[in-house]
Amino acid sequence: MKASVDSDRCAGHGDCVSICAAVFSWTADGFAEVVLDEIPPEYADLVTKASHDCPEHAIEVDGG
Ligand code: SF4
Repeated sequence: MKASVDSDRCAGHGDCVSICAAVFSWTADGFAEVVLDEIPPEYADLVTKASHDCPEHAIEVDGG
């Protein structure tokens, strides 16, 4: 699984960081980013939840 944050959509609410801080972190500008190139299987469910819960639909998931 791979994931990414669309920086044009992200509004910095932080839901994703709250849901899975091992995968999502903050940029210096206060938006979210994905810090792992490949999402480990143990985080797959949380990343899927973060994608569904993102208010801006900014999280894209591939291969999940
Ligand atoms: S939940 Fe969505 S809008 Fe909020 S910080 Fe994460 S990617 Fe950005």
